[in-house]
Amino acid sequence: MLGGTHMARTSTGASDYDFIFKLVLIGDSSVGKSNLLLRFTRNEFRLDTQSTIGVEFAYKQLVIDGKKIKTQVWDTAGQERFKTVIPQFYRGSEGALAVFDLTKLDSFDHIPTWIEEVHRHTPSDLPIVLVGNKSDLVDQRKVSREQATALAEELNLSYMETSALNASNVEQAFVLLVTSIYQKKMPKQM
Ligand code: GDP
Ligand code: MG
Repeated sequence: MLGGTHMARTSTGASDYDFIFKLVLIGDSSVGKSNLLLRFTRNEFRLDTQSTIGVEFAYKQLVIDGKKIKTQVWDTAGQERFKTVIPQFYRGSEGALAVFDLTKLDSFDHIPTWIEEVHRHTPSDLPIVLVGNKSDLVDQRKVSREQATALAEELNLSYMETSALNASNVEQAFVLLVTSIYQKKMPKQM
């Protein structure tokens, strides 16, 4: 069941979920992608940096507009240190979170390159949310909300600031992305 949208029906006719969406997390190493995934799917956080947390993807179900939407969220598992990930990573994805670290200017400067890569592998109207993570590190902030909002507008992305550490806006960022995907598919229903 990788990729694409599926209507789920069990043999009894009851449904586990109405839709399944594959989402991908992209962005430089150590911006907090794996911890955003952990926070969203398991409500956990880890301090130690590892190139991979040992999973390629995890599931989380949301209810949006009364519909049960199962998300399958893919982590880069360390590939991103080569500033690119394999094309299969993007296959069948319906939305992306492009993550940078609010305390690392480099990670923000690399966002346009990441967006170009996403566009090379996915339809041009793929919903993407730009995520400025580590909003808890207020004193170390290097990217202003204004700068990030301007880039988001230029690249036609939504923008949110999150903290995987204190769980601020994490679920909201995923809900924003999934809502955009859902609205694109079901324009008449919302
Ligand atoms: P990834 O390489 O993008 O997957 O980043 P990780 O999730 O492995 O996080 C890299 C480092 O940043 C780890 O030490 C995390 O504990 C830390 N980190 C991740 N998210 C946050 C956050 O929201 N706030 C703070 N203060 N640290 C974070
Ligand atoms: Mg990681």
